[in-house]
Amino acid sequence: MAATDASPDYDVIIIGAGMSGLYQLYRLRELGLKVRIFETGTGVGGTWYWNRYPGARFDSESYSYAYSFSQELLDEWNWSEHFAGQPETLRYLNHVADKFDLRRDIQFRSRVTAAHWQEGARSWDVTLEDGSRHSTRFLITAIGPLSAPTMPRIEGTDMFRGESFHTARWPHEPVSFAGKRVAVIGTGATGVQTIQEVAKTAGHLTVFQRTPNWCAPLHNRTIGAEEMATIKAGYPEMFKRCQETFACFLHTPNRRRTFDVTLEEREAFWEKLYAEPGFGIWQGNFRDILVDRAANAALSDFVARKIRQRVKDPKVAEKLIPKNHGFGTRRVPLETRYYEVYNQPNVLLVDIKETPIERITPKGIKTSDAEYEFDIIIYATGFDAITGSFDRIDIRGVNGLPLKDKWADGPQTFLGVLVEDFPNMMMLIGPHTALGNIPRSIEYNVDWVTKLVRFAEDRGLTRVAATEAGVKSWTDHVKSLGIGLLSNEVDSWMTGVNRNVAGKQTRIIARYSGSAPAYRERCDEVAAKDFQELALA
Ligand SMILES: Cc1cc2nc3c(=O)[nH]c(=O)nc-3n(C[C@H](O)[C@H](O)[C@H](O)COP(=O)(O)OP(=O)(O)OC[C@H]3O[C@@H](n4cnc5c(N)ncnc54)[C@H](O)[C@@H]3O)c2cc1C
Repeated sequence: MAATDASPDYDVIIIGAGMSGLYQLYRLRELGLKVRIFETGTGVGGTWYWNRYPGARFDSESYSYAYSFSQELLDEWNWSEHFAGQPETLRYLNHVADKFDLRRDIQFRSRVTAAHWQEGARSWDVTLEDGSRHSTRFLITAIGPLSAPTMPRIEGTDMFRGESFHTARWPHEPVSFAGKRVAVIGTGATGVQTIQEVAKTAGHLTVFQRTPNWCAPLHNRTIGAEEMATIKAGYPEMFKRCQETFACFLHTPNRRRTFDVTLEEREAFWEKLYAEPGFGIWQGNFRDILVDRAANAALSDFVARKIRQRVKDPKVAEKLIPKNHGFGTRRVPLETRYYEVYNQPNVLLVDIKETPIERITPKGIKTSDAEYEFDIIIYATGFDAITGSFDRIDIRGVNGLPLKDKWADGPQTFLGVLVEDFPNMMMLIGPHTALGNIPRSIEYNVDWVTKLVRFAEDRGLTRVAATEAGVKSWTDHVKSLGIGLLSNEVDSWMTGVNRNVAGKQTRIIARYSGSAPAYRERCDEVAAKDFQELALA
């Protein structure tokens, strides 16, 4: 049907079948709406469908990450580890899709290439890669903050004669490293997980590092039947806690400041955090470690000492200690014997700031001082984060305005959900929303968007849009929250910088850095006042 016809093909089109899209579909079906998901992949799961690289696993506690909306689902699902591996999470999301019969409204192998607003019809005209077009009253993006992989800007990647993989486009068949010469480029959270796993079996592993990150131990453990029963009994309390903490994790900042306590107390506290599972050392530390330079330097010094203790060769240890940013100002990779990998005789660390990669050759990788031969090259070079998945779709609003132009100087949103001049488009986990332990934010985001759609349906509204004033005030608020944060003084995906993507060399405020409870309070207020802060027609 052409987009200008009176009634659109769908009430709602959702782009993406990850955790956000699946739950959004479930909720909208409850309203009796005609909903369709278009998904690039061949299956559900988003992040957990694509990231099949060796060692991929949670940094959130498994049970705190899972959906909380269905008691039956909570009762029947058992997690085998405190931080589950990717295969288990993918099984879980497939189970969710089956249990709630979600697949019948999901069209796989269907990448959305364009979405254009049609003012006359008050609908969106959505185009897929195969050229087919579909119209919809509402368009919901569930395209992920970390779903647009980036390759390094190095010449010759297509020349290599061995096997090469990007971690987020890993094959569905197993890849063997036994006896092979393997290269990993990249040492972010994904690189760290990959390296520590590949090092177990590779004949020889060479790690190409541009920027070391501050990593901390994961301390993963299996969960037995008895422990799982205890965890289940504590679900109501646990989810309540996640609603109350700063970033929806089980961990939340300590009330004290770093220098409120003696040196001995401080060191003892940090030793305790370093020995505990999960993000405690990042999210549950003294409350000033990410804003006070001296506090951050003291903590960084503590973690640097740990790295020196764990890595035998002092020169290698120094290379692994970040010098251009403090602990926690970039995403902290959690690791399991990552640093010990560099004590293995078959592992080499190449600092590509000292000896830059010049090109990929048919046999391997050429740096400024050597040519290395490989059987396998792994690109752990991450994502064009937060706005990247939007940039890859030709989204046009009122008067054909491209979203990319609208956001040329950084995202501008209302509550991270709506954009002025892009009516009837809602974003899940878009820029300017609370992230943290993301599924907790997903459930909130989806429930809020569902309320808005129901509100519009109940009143026969066909145009729902953010106002200029609303967008300005939320965007200013998000920017003001970023003032004084040490993380905003550092280049990283969290500040929108990606040296592999043209036009993304300048830091922007793409993330909401206030507390999740404060975010929800503001969104609740807008909903409670019948969305009158929006332009409704
Ligand atoms: C390796 C890794 C580990 C992570 N670990 C954690 C963790 O421990 N804790 C945590 O809270 N978060 C973690 N995250 C973040 C994770 O992305 C979120 O937790 C969550 O999975 C996001 O779900 P989503 O549905 O919003 O997005 P995604 O899971 O990214 O799903 C988006 C979907 O949209 C599809 N899509 C995108 N563009 C299009 C298009 N144009 N057309 C059609 N389909 C499209 C994609 O194919 C994808 O399937 C991790 C991310 C990665 C990459």
